[in-house]
Amino acid sequence: MSSPDPAPRWVDTGGGEGPLWSFRVGDVEVFPIREVDYLPAPTDFFPQLETESWTDGAFYTREPFTRDGRILLNQEAHLLKVGDRRILVDAGGGNGKARRGGSVYDRTDRPFLEQFPRAGVALEDIDTVVFTHLHVDHVGFATSADGDGGWVPTFPNARYLVVRPEFDWWTSADGARALERTGDYIADSILPLRDAGVLDLVAADHRVAPGVRLVPAFGHTPGNVYVEVESAGKRALFAGDMLHHGVQLERPEWSIRYCVLPGDSADQRRRLLERVADTGDLLIPAHFPFPAAGYVSRAERGFTYTFIDV
Ligand SMILES: [Zn+2]
Repeated sequence: MSSPDPAPRWVDTGGGEGPLWSFRVGDVEVFPIREVDYLPAPTDFFPQLETESWTDGAFYTREPFTRDGRILLNQEAHLLKVGDRRILVDAGGGNGKARRGGSVYDRTDRPFLEQFPRAGVALEDIDTVVFTHLHVDHVGFATSADGDGGWVPTFPNARYLVVRPEFDWWTSADGARALERTGDYIADSILPLRDAGVLDLVAADHRVAPGVRLVPAFGHTPGNVYVEVESAGKRALFAGDMLHHGVQLERPEWSIRYCVLPGDSADQRRRLLERVADTGDLLIPAHFPFPAAGYVSRAERGFTYTFIDV
């Protein structure tokens, strides 16, 4: 059993300037597109901490997972070059959008899209945007202000894929209640895609491109999926919000406050961790410290995570 490597892997992208990092999964080139890091109080995400505590000295209580007693969450999306396909997995929090509740995504102006040209990709080149789920921090850059109070697709030549039960839930009465916390981001980030005729409601095991497919893992949200990429004998799982923080490696049963179906989310998280511990697949959660890519192995308590070098 290799011990976890807690060494910081922080590479500040300099506000969208400086080097852009990438790694390969077989022949697929992956560019993490970093949006923001933030430091919520642990109890903001983990209500379990009101009655239980972290293990003293555990790897996830330190950098890069935790800083000064606050959990460190990274917000990034992933740009994939798969042959001649250009695929974006999740679309960040977005710019210039009104969000409630002290959100880190309220009326922001972050250099997210500016990173694409440095990967050699124009916005027009993106052919597919995949949403792992429809939370506020995964959809925002899908649309941009049209200058007239409306919103239009950011990537003019892309199809935008969302799993049908996910779309159905967020546009239901239950979904409307869930949107009260942040404000109705479905209205400015998803419905304009439908109105433009570029939103595809797909099956939860949809094949996106050769070697790229969705895997159903409902729980974090009612139609949550992750994205499996397989190329030249290598495999990576873009796990979205299946897990948010290192503590969930030790405690897969800890769902976060914002999991819609916490019990199902916990079951899916454990299943995913067991899968990657057995297969050695690369696991890439959306909110782990940059570059959020690493390998999972079993530990005395739960699992550990070893970051790749970039
Ligand atoms: Zn998220």
